[in-house]
Order: sequence, then C-alpha cells, then structure tokens
Amino acid sequence: MNYDMLLLRFGEFTLKGKNRNRFEKTVLTHVRSVLSSYPAAQIQKEYGRLYVALNGENASQLIEELKKIFGIISISPVVVCPSQLDKIVETSTSFLENLDLQKETTFKVTARRVWKAFPHPSQEMNHLVGSPLLKKFTMLKVSMKDPELQLRVEIREQGTYIYCEVIPAVGGFPRGSNGKGMLLLSGGIDSPVAGFTSMRRGLEVECVHFYSYPFTSLKAKEKVMELAKVLSGYAGEVKLHLVPFTEIQTSFTGLGQDNLIITLMRRSMLRIATMLAEREGALAIVTGDSLGQVASQTLSSMNVIGRTTDLPILRPLIMMDKSEIIDIAKRIGTYELSILPYEDCCTIFVPKSPATNPNLRIVESIEASLANLQTMLEEAVERTETVVLTPESMIEAAEDGIDEEWF
Ligand code: ATP
Ligand code: MG
Repeated sequence: MNYDMLLLRFGEFTLKGKNRNRFEKTVLTHVRSVLSSYPAAQIQKEYGRLYVALNGENASQLIEELKKIFGIISISPVVVCPSQLDKIVETSTSFLENLDLQKETTFKVTARRVWKAFPHPSQEMNHLVGSPLLKKFTMLKVSMKDPELQLRVEIREQGTYIYCEVIPAVGGFPRGSNGKGMLLLSGGIDSPVAGFTSMRRGLEVECVHFYSYPFTSLKAKEKVMELAKVLSGYAGEVKLHLVPFTEIQTSFTGLGQDNLIITLMRRSMLRIATMLAEREGALAIVTGDSLGQVASQTLSSMNVIGRTTDLPILRPLIMMDKSEIIDIAKRIGTYELSILPYEDCCTIFVPKSPATNPNLRIVESIEASLANLQTMLEEAVERTETVVLTPESMIEAAEDGIDEEWF
C-alpha cells in the first residue's frame, strides 16, 4: 500500500493540564530526531496528535522507529484523498483492494466528519462508503461489534484520512520529562528492564555500575556497557558511572560475618549511588529488585539496605514475576546480553547462606568497626569513571585504550 501519512497518537500525558505543552514539545523533539534520517518526511502538528507526511519515505521502516518513542501510544498509516464523496469512495475501494482479503472478514466503516461544512454527516457517510464496498468485496460481512476490519474515514477540510490499522506503540511519558534517577545497573536480567520501565515513565536515567576488578573481568564490564548502550537507544544517550568496588567489597570479607556480606555491599552501593545522585542532580535511585527473588530482596533485607539513603528508592519490578521481567527484557533487546555468563561483583564471594533477615544493629556495628569505610566510599566516588553511551558507541574501541589506571 502506498501510504501518504502516519498518524501518531499521544498517550496519557495529555491529561496533565498545564504540563501538556512541555510534554508535547518533548515528543516533537524526539520525533524530529528520528526523522532526521528520513529527509523527505514532514511533521504536521495538531492538537493532541502528530502527523508525519511521508513524501515517499518508507512507512513500515519509519513506524518501527517511531513506535519506540515514549509518549506515543499508537500509530496509524493513512491514505489521504480530497474531501469529496466520489474520491472518498474510490480511495476506500483501492485501500481495500490493496489489503487483498483472502477470507470472510467482519467489517464496518467508521466515518467522522470533522469538517462540518462537508455535506454528509458521519452516520450517513458510514452508509455512503460502506454500501459500495460491501457490494464489491463479497468477503466482507458487516459487524457493528468488534469487527476484524474497521475502515476509518476522517473528513477534514484539508483532506480525508483513510486507515484501518492502529499499531500499538510504547506509550508512557515523553523522554526525560519526569526528572532524573540513578539506576543501579548490574549485568543481570532485571536492572536493564527496571531502567527501561523507568525511562518509559519519563525518568531520565543515569546508570551506576559497581565492578570488582580483577575479581570481575573486563568482559563483565564490557557487557554492562553494551546493556547501557541498548538503553541509550531509548534515551538518545545514557551516562554510565563505573565505580571501582574491589576495596570496599574485600573489606567486608574475613570479618566472620559472611552471611551479611551482600547486605553490607548493597548498603555501600546505595551510599555511593546517593553521593553520585547529589553530584548529578538526581532525585531518586532505581534498582531491579523484585520481592523475594533472592536473599537481598526479602522485605527485611530491603528494609535494612534501604535505610542508607534518604532518596526514594524506586523498584519498578518489585511485584513482577521473573517470567514477566524476561518477556520485557526480550522485547527491549537486553535479554541476550544479560544471559552472557560473566560474573558480577555480587556473585563472587557469595556466602553459602546470605541473610534473609539481617539485623540492623549488627550491620551498623560492623560498619562502625570499619574505621575507614566512609573514606573508601568517598574515594570510590572520586575514582568513578563516567562514559556517555549512544546507540553508535564503539565499545571495544573504548576499551582498547584502557590501562591499569582505569581500575
Ligand atoms: P539483575 O537484578 O540486574 O538481574 P541480579 O538479579 O543478578 O541482576 P541482584 O543480585 O538481584 O542482581 O541485585 C538486585 C539489584 O541490585 C539489581 O537489580 C541492581 O539494581 C543492583 N545491583 C546488583 N549488583 C550490582 C552492580 N554490580 N552494580 C550496580 N547495581 C547492582
Ligand atoms: Mg535480580
């Protein structure tokens, strides 16, 4: 089919009163950035909607890209004709011809007369367009309720828009329109999904990753960079803070409190993430925690761990099942990377039985006994390397120049 235009519908943010303009502008900027590789395409803005005139650009390819824009809930490819009855019937007929129906299909026409000067009201148009189509295409059977094929006809002064597909898009809030958070990004399945779902709600996300070289390998770090790069595909670019964690982590070993190591590590991670958040102007911390998934994600573990920060900890996956998380990971393109078998700093020195019910007083007294813990945390922040990743980033090249200093 030769489509003339794409119709993009905005999501729920249109309910947001005086912020609506700001949200719409953000979506518009995002759409423009996608359209920069489709020079013939042109944007037309209308209240509550966007139109992209294709001018010969490839519709299906463009739809694939526009579908990922946060704030857009659906897209319809549209054929445009002059707002005259005979032209509308003619164009609707060729529209259906192009669909090449092979079996009996339930059908209705839904006309909408937006341009009130057009001589036939909407109801009448349903019949004026529907009857000749039903006569010509014998496979069509009228059904008012839930038809398989609904031909929509929008009559406007500048032209009539004809379409039947409503392709679901990602939805949510426009990119970066709801403030900034620091995402604790491990190499696992969960945290990239937590990042994506946060971004979809309009959160600008900066990633923080803790690595314990040489206990964790370069490959593990490269994997996290690759994951951040996938996330940057949704955000345009993503900052990744790489925090050296070896010293802090090893200070927790040999204390005779192995079952609390994970609790202690998580508390230190949160403290560092909080310092980075302050530095970067972020107002929340995001994790991939899911209730009960592992020992550190029991209610009492999260309680003891969460006390280290005054910032809200956002846990988008907290009530999701692993299978649901995996489904999203597959859809957003992080799953295959996440299952690569490189170790994370939380999987080395894992105690046989990590505490599921850690005692806050004991944890605090262990931390108090480590005189230089605060200094180590501050040093880790100072030695943090920050990289900015985009979908085009060459990660191997970035790693080539790394020398020992990096760790
Ligand atoms: P993921 O949750 O990403 O799949 P996982 O399940 O192996 O990895 P957990 O041990 O369950 O990770 O950790 C819970 C959360 O703690 C992660 O979702 C992530 O937000 C954070 N986290 C764990 N390890 C790291 C790390 N090395 N760097 C940054 N954040 C981490
Ligand atoms: Mg997890």
